[in-house]
Amino acid sequence: STHDHLFKLLIIGDSGVGKSSILLRFCDDEFNEKQASTIGVDFKTKFLQVRGKKLKLALWDTAGQERFRTLTSSYYRGAQGIILCYDCTQRSSFEHVKFWQDEVRKYSTNQDAILMLVSNKVDLADQQVTRTEGEEFAFANSMMFIETSAKTRHKKNIRFMLARRTLVSA
Ligand code: GDP
Ligand code: MG
Repeated sequence: STHDHLFKLLIIGDSGVGKSSILLRFCDDEFNEKQASTIGVDFKTKFLQVRGKKLKLALWDTAGQERFRTLTSSYYRGAQGIILCYDCTQRSSFEHVKFWQDEVRKYSTNQDAILMLVSNKVDLADQQVTRTEGEEFAFANSMMFIETSAKTRHKKNIRFMLARRTLVSA
């Protein structure tokens, strides 16, 4: 077989928080200041080696439907990893994390899905959400937590979750 694990991973959160940028950083190690909004569901496949295991990743990005909060159950179905993203310079995007969490509860068919809360854009100075707030929310809701910047930091964020998942399912 070409891989030891197949892993469906999706990313959710308010429009503009940097979801597509995080995936672009992860997949191609690039950053685009004028990241165009996605048309249609964007889907990428990537092979990756984590702790000696070959992972095949199916990465699902939203197509701007999140602006209208109309992601459907097919988007969530069977996901093993869910990245819940906010922009630490937009307080409202942190407050809406609860909405996205409710969507996961409603639609995700996989009870064992790993959730990771991601505070993005930590390269910017005007932060409206502290690291502690993010950490506390994640801890209270059994999520992993990481701060990142799609602009200045590298692939650590998703690798971190995958490493954990691989250990869980090994
Ligand atoms: P999405 O709507 O959640 O997919 O967000 P995008 O990936 O389209 O990003 C929205 C805007 O934020 C774009 O102009 C990106 O270039 C910018 N952006 C994304 N991530 C970062 C980051 O970590 N730091 C900074 N400074 N800008 C970012
Ligand atoms: Mg996008």
